[in-house]
Amino acid sequence: MSYPIEERFKQAKIRLTPQRALIVETLVESNDHPDADLIYRRAIQKDSSISVATTYRTLNLLGDVGILRKLNMQDGKVRFEIERDDHNHLVDEENGRIHEFKNDELSALINKTIGEMGYDVVNFRVEVIGKKRGDTECGCIQINVY
Ligand SMILES: [Zn+2]
Repeated sequence: MSYPIEERFKQAKIRLTPQRALIVETLVESNDHPDADLIYRRAIQKDSSISVATTYRTLNLLGDVGILRKLNMQDGKVRFEIERDDHNHLVDEENGRIHEFKNDELSALINKTIGEMGYDVVNFRVEVIGKKRGDTECGCIQINVY
């Protein structure tokens, strides 16, 4: 795992405990934006001593300090991913699978629009619900930066 975990914890000014490392590691290895329950089920495969409560507490803490991003999806589920490069989400209406995409024109348009409102964009995510046409490949950018 090349994810600079110690560095991220140092920046966030929180201690890197074995449980926190386990949760981060579990998410680094997931590229499907899992919810807390699924993260717990994956984490317990690696370390049977982790509890549901610890998993939820750790996810919230790591979300608060910006190591993880909490995604409040339109389907009502709360999912998590490692905080990283800006990208947007396309949710498949039928199976709930999340695809990732980036588009420079879209980013420029958002920056322009928000700029005209007197703000600088700090961060944004666009979430699109889509219905797949036929069975062509989605061509989604599986961003794996770690
Ligand atoms: Zn994502």
